[in-house]
Amino acid sequence: MSNQHGTVWTKPQRSESGTEAGHVSPPKGYYYDFHLHSCLSPCGDNDMTPNNIVGMASLLGLQIIALTDHNSVKNCRAVCKVGEQNGLTVIPGMELCTSEEIHVVTLFPDVDSAEAFGAHVSTTLPPIPNRPDIFGEQRILDENDEIVGLEEVYLLSASSISIEEVMPLCGSYGGVCYPAHIDRSSFSVISALGLFPDHIGFRFAELSRQAGPGYASQVQLPQGLKLLRSSDAHYLEDIDEAKYTLPLENCTPAAAVKYLESAPLA
Ligand SMILES: [Zn+2]
Ligand SMILES: [Zn+2]
Repeated sequence: MSNQHGTVWTKPQRSESGTEAGHVSPPKGYYYDFHLHSCLSPCGDNDMTPNNIVGMASLLGLQIIALTDHNSVKNCRAVCKVGEQNGLTVIPGMELCTSEEIHVVTLFPDVDSAEAFGAHVSTTLPPIPNRPDIFGEQRILDENDEIVGLEEVYLLSASSISIEEVMPLCGSYGGVCYPAHIDRSSFSVISALGLFPDHIGFRFAELSRQAGPGYASQVQLPQGLKLLRSSDAHYLEDIDEAKYTLPLENCTPAAAVKYLESAPLA
């Protein structure tokens, strides 16, 4: 099955190397989930620890995942480290909430870049304290799942970064971004703006796990826009079994970022 919006509906074959003379192997498809929350997100379950996330993702057959907490990257270093120790690729990322209350998935090639971006984003959030009694703690963990701090600024606020600004800003830190769960009726680019803006230059967009297979044909999307599927899991049991692949050059955060910023439009 395929449609005009790219790769997401097809299930690329996992090509085994077998390079013959004069024959170039097609890129491998890697099972991905680029939208996962940890216990740092106020709405993320406390069981979403670095070791539990990596363990569950590996069990489900995923090969490359991204940690995308709301407006913070402070658990990325720990999750990336646990991923390294267990042979699972983890992309450091963030689900940024723009000033229009649009959620955008941002992904980075390495933790340092993500943390630099995170430090900037923290200056754009309103200084509203978290209310752990209402929203739950925002836990910062180390690679042993030990709590090393609590984020005190409420992370579900809108930043002052606009949807127009997010792509160049993210790019200036070496990252790539695309609108999250565009089919959802809240915190999505379409619910906020009434349409998918084609002047910003997003090459990808994410569909939630609830979007039906016919979703792309029911809405007007820019020609060639590619659609990704991720779980947006806040609980361990919400992480989906490996199902969708991307044809990355190799299974690294840098290759994923490169693919997402340069894959040709269909
Ligand atoms: Zn979201
Ligand atoms: Zn999310």
